[in-house]
Amino acid sequence: MTDIPHVVILGGGFGGLSAANELRNSLPSSEIKITVIDKKDWFMVGFAKLWIINGTRTFENSIGSLKELQKKDIDFIKDEITSINFKNKDVETKSRKISFDFLIISMGATLAPQKIPGLQENGFNLYDHNQLTDIRNKLENIESGKIAISIMGMPYKCPPAPFEASLLIDSMLRKRGVRDAIEIHFYSPAPITLPAAGPEVSKQILELVNSQKIIFHNSCKIKSVESKKLIFENSESEFDLLLAIPPHIAPKAIYDCGLAKESGFIIIDRDCKTSFENVFAVGDVTSLPVAENMAVPKAGIFAEGEGIIVAKNIISIIQSKNDFLLFDGKGGCFIESGRDTASVIEVDMFSDDKPSTNITKSTSDNLFKKIEFERERLSKWF
Ligand SMILES: Cc1cc2nc3c(=O)[nH]c(=O)nc-3n(C[C@H](O)[C@H](O)[C@H](O)COP(=O)(O)OP(=O)(O)OC[C@H]3O[C@@H](n4cnc5c(N)ncnc54)[C@H](O)[C@@H]3O)c2cc1C
Repeated sequence: MTDIPHVVILGGGFGGLSAANELRNSLPSSEIKITVIDKKDWFMVGFAKLWIINGTRTFENSIGSLKELQKKDIDFIKDEITSINFKNKDVETKSRKISFDFLIISMGATLAPQKIPGLQENGFNLYDHNQLTDIRNKLENIESGKIAISIMGMPYKCPPAPFEASLLIDSMLRKRGVRDAIEIHFYSPAPITLPAAGPEVSKQILELVNSQKIIFHNSCKIKSVESKKLIFENSESEFDLLLAIPPHIAPKAIYDCGLAKESGFIIIDRDCKTSFENVFAVGDVTSLPVAENMAVPKAGIFAEGEGIIVAKNIISIIQSKNDFLLFDGKGGCFIESGRDTASVIEVDMFSDDKPSTNITKSTSDNLFKKIEFERERLSKWF
């Protein structure tokens, strides 16, 4: 280790930003050097994408600038990470090599629409920030027909988000007076709406979408997409507008360095350690198993919690203390109803060694909490 330990953080999303801020709030720049690397120079809370689609937001007023981190003596490098070398303790980007004493991998999940033949030519990617304006324009102009929302791989980010999208789209179409002429169909490979939240919460989500005449089709495993047609393993279905949640994979640099197998994520335990000393992984790039063949869902709130734990544990190592903390698995995701209210799906992934979940009533107070959730993160991280 050099004089001042250098913590390099790969990815400036929920996990990376929570870790960077926790480290800097605990130790001054004379005691720890922190570098965040990201290929883009902005951060957005995931659910703001749906507000851009329904027109209550613009991209510009939904982001925080990673360049602002410098004000806190957190170095920011805008570049693409191409490889990680654990033996030499360095990371390569397209333009340079950066050495680390501690590494936090928080590179998230990569969207992989190319894995589904025909998807990119015939449908939109609901989670791609570059496609939000086009999706909005389509929804502003559609007069009749069939909208398909299709989950094309598991696991995916924020399990309730596609259901929330269907409710917000229902609301947009109702306000335009065209809802009766447009069917909304929802396709999932899973047998129930939210497997990660269990059968009871899934039933309530099903009732919620059914109450707005959104038709849920379970166990629909996608094979390919043709012009205006979804081809599933056992059936086919036509559409006029397709909004897809494509398969999620780990970033290429993670497969290349051997931390995850192709089609998998970095397996971690509640200490977020990898098999390499002083190398940690948090958030969507990981898979943290829980009881009953499940894993902690891919959600910002969990990436944030893991980032804080890892930061505290790195400080503990630096200060030669032995109090090593474990991630508690607690969090919640909002689901907006499209009627100016929201519910919270509260999760405790390790309660009595098995997950417990609960969905709250849909209230305007919860919608306020959702708006506050975003505001708080943008103000405390930048
Ligand atoms: C529509 C929608 C709604 C959502 N709603 C919620 C919600 O209500 N609550 C909730 O908790 N979560 C929600 N989420 C999920 C949440 O956004 C993600 O789970 C969260 O962002 C994961 O955090 P992370 O730090 O693991 O990864 P990310 O936030 O994705 O950050 C990873 C970062 O790594 C960077 N990166 C990746 N590869 C490279 C590379 N090779 N070189 C350089 N940089 C790289 C990326 O640019 C990115 O900035 C939602 C997501 C979506 C899409």
